[in-house]
Amino acid sequence: MSSPQIPEKQWAQVIEKTGGPLEYKQIPVQKPGPDEVLVNVKYTGVCHTDLHALNGDWPLPTKLPLVGGHEGAGVVVARGQLVSEVNVGDHVGIKWINGTCLSCDFCMQSDEPLCAKAQLSGYTVDGSFQQYAIAKAAHVARLDKNVPLDGVSPVLCAGITVYKGIKESGARPGQTVAIVGAGGGLGSLAQQYCKAMGIRTIAIDAGDDKKKMCEELGSYAFVDFSKSKNVVKDVQAATEDGLGPHAVILLAVSEKPFQQAAEYVRPRGTVICIGLPAGASLKAPVFESVIRMITIKGSYVGNRRDTAEALDFYAKGLIKAPFKVVGLSELPKVFEMMEKGQIAGRYVLDTSK
Ligand code: NAD
Ligand code: ZN
Repeated sequence: MSSPQIPEKQWAQVIEKTGGPLEYKQIPVQKPGPDEVLVNVKYTGVCHTDLHALNGDWPLPTKLPLVGGHEGAGVVVARGQLVSEVNVGDHVGIKWINGTCLSCDFCMQSDEPLCAKAQLSGYTVDGSFQQYAIAKAAHVARLDKNVPLDGVSPVLCAGITVYKGIKESGARPGQTVAIVGAGGGLGSLAQQYCKAMGIRTIAIDAGDDKKKMCEELGSYAFVDFSKSKNVVKDVQAATEDGLGPHAVILLAVSEKPFQQAAEYVRPRGTVICIGLPAGASLKAPVFESVIRMITIKGSYVGNRRDTAEALDFYAKGLIKAPFKVVGLSELPKVFEMMEKGQIAGRYVLDTSK
């Protein structure tokens, strides 16, 4: 195959300092290291994590200057000398876990998100809010060439993460799961994965647009946290026997729902924490948690196997979540809407605009 033309400069959204502003400008295209590939990113989803990175919300500093983004779908245009499994022309995805050591205790057990040396796309290494991004060949997600690159991009973080979270919850077909933050990017995909697995969902979020979307995505009930006088009672009342959902998947970007979930989950139920609101703490009453035998756990993205499985659901047409495509140059507007909670589903950026 003839080598594709790789320009020396490219468009990117760059954060020079934490808190912003974003600068849309031309920067050099990097060369891949021996174990890396260079990906011509065609589309990239915008995750709330990218906004947390810009705002400096977490107790983990980002690299600076930083190119954010970790839902990049594109085509391999160059590879390092040690790369043999990924070819120029392959369709791949750049996900949050850009690279790991592959030899620590966690990597050896396929728990690579827990690797202490994990490199994070769009956080500790430059990510997909640029036209050409670098990723470790061992970790790029393999995409079928028939899969549309715009639609698949949100699966690369949102999809993998919720797929893993549902598995961690232990919920089984026929059971009920409450999705908190159901109207957002992760939430919209969580409802679709649950539906595909035969799990019933109660959606929790705010506003009529999100209610309509959640019903279309398969949730049989919607609890509007902005209108409800008692979210705990309303979620329990939405289950057939009134005992509460078998599991709760917390994707919200505020602390309060993290304090409520243990109260409304069913006895012996599981609360899965995925959302990462700034400065938030988990709190649950000891007495009730003990005598109701509640499990509370965290879930963090997914490993390479989870990635392949989550993508397979998408490739088979089992997962369809709404997304809107705008140009890479429009990222500041997307962040503005995200900050206000105005996005139903996901925004995807076209890097050619
Ligand atoms: P998003 O902005 O698209 O969606 C968040 C949703 O939460 C919004 O619809 C908002 O209305 C809703 N919400 C806010 N307060 C709520 C409340 N009190 N009750 C119910 N819903 C509420 O964000 P996203 O891209 O879906 O990301 C969600 C969170 O997940 C972020 O904090 C992100 O950093 C985190 N995340 C974690 C992982 C992980 O591996 N653990 C991976 C990806 C993203
Ligand atoms: Zn993400």
